[in-house]
Amino acid sequence: MTPFKTIDDLGDLTGKRVLVRADLNVPVKDGVIGDITRLQATAPTIHGLLAKGATVLVLSHFDRPKGKVVPAMSLKPIAAALAKALAMPVTFIENCVGAEPKIAVAALAPGSVAVLENTRFHAGEESNDLTFAQSLATLGDIYVNDAFSAAHRAHASTEALAHVLPCYAGRSMAAELKALEAALGNPQKPVAAIVGGAKVSSKLDVLMHLVERVDHLIIGGGMANTFLAARGINVGKSLCEHDLADTARAIFAKAEAANCIVHLPYDAVVATEFRANPPTRTVAVTEVHDNEMILDAGPAAIEQFGDVLKLCCTLVWNGPLGAFETPPFDTATVAVARMAAALTEDGSLLSVGGGGDTVAALHHAGVADTFSFVSTAGGAFLEWMEGKALPGVEALSS
Ligand code: AMP
Repeated sequence: MTPFKTIDDLGDLTGKRVLVRADLNVPVKDGVIGDITRLQATAPTIHGLLAKGATVLVLSHFDRPKGKVVPAMSLKPIAAALAKALAMPVTFIENCVGAEPKIAVAALAPGSVAVLENTRFHAGEESNDLTFAQSLATLGDIYVNDAFSAAHRAHASTEALAHVLPCYAGRSMAAELKALEAALGNPQKPVAAIVGGAKVSSKLDVLMHLVERVDHLIIGGGMANTFLAARGINVGKSLCEHDLADTARAIFAKAEAANCIVHLPYDAVVATEFRANPPTRTVAVTEVHDNEMILDAGPAAIEQFGDVLKLCCTLVWNGPLGAFETPPFDTATVAVARMAAALTEDGSLLSVGGGGDTVAALHHAGVADTFSFVSTAGGAFLEWMEGKALPGVEALSS
């Protein structure tokens, strides 16, 4: 990983204004904020900068207004939620470029915090426009990027701005990068990856990259069915991408060449209908009937995957092992997550999980706090698992 500076490298910031790119893009339904994890995640950076004497100006996108002012996508209500998360007042400034924020920023009391309106209200944000970044830069002296979850986008507030102002990683960004480096960049071996979820097609690049980086690849969830089918196993009417059989075989071949052992579930929990608590059978994966669907990994698979984790020092996990939102098909995901958590608590496993469904699954299993690190970044986490350079991170190192 290319080195970058963090806010710990900053000295006294009295009289300085710091532009902090946070990710305030929290889930909102019917005007109610569903989850404030991202607001809490950036609080240590803001408090850290305030402690050094700075005035903090928070930049973020929210939703997809596509370069136009969409009042329903204003950051104003989120600014109020951020104030609660910070336990201090937060001023809201109704634009992020132009005369209005200049006046409003000049009027801020030193040592205060303000949120500027949605950067995506301007087309220059998503086109990574240098002039737009330069306009943002006129408001502050220093740029801090604390939004790992937006780092896979080369946008003005995540990329170009880092070339205009002295740039630093915030605490949340630095913690993400440290955890990801420990999990895949320079991990303690042997390394296991668990990749689950619905479809192979959405995680092809992840699988292709991982087989060359990890010692054990555990494939679960609906995507395991595609691999089982590629080995000639009848998966009945399970979710399965039969057209990807050749791709699955190419992944097996690449894994073998790289000495990566691929683990597919020995057994499965099957049902003829997909709903909560239907009649189920637990069978070897070779015993699935034509009218049945594999909806979870079975008890032998749980033990099988647990045994792999016991051999490993590092785990990176994305995607559930079954249709975990629908009981009882959360069983394998919960059991394996708890095994990983117990090994983490014992100090024998460094465990990193990430991606939207995975975070929900780890919370559901009650182990999100026991894992070494849980990344709330969705797209950025997956792109990192694909081995792609993230423009927001690259820019910090430039
Ligand atoms: P992804 O977004 O690709 O990580 O996929 C997550 C989704 O995969 C979750 O909504 C799970 O319910 C679903 N899933 C996992 N295993 C299965 C399965 N065996 N059959 C159907 N859906 C599954």
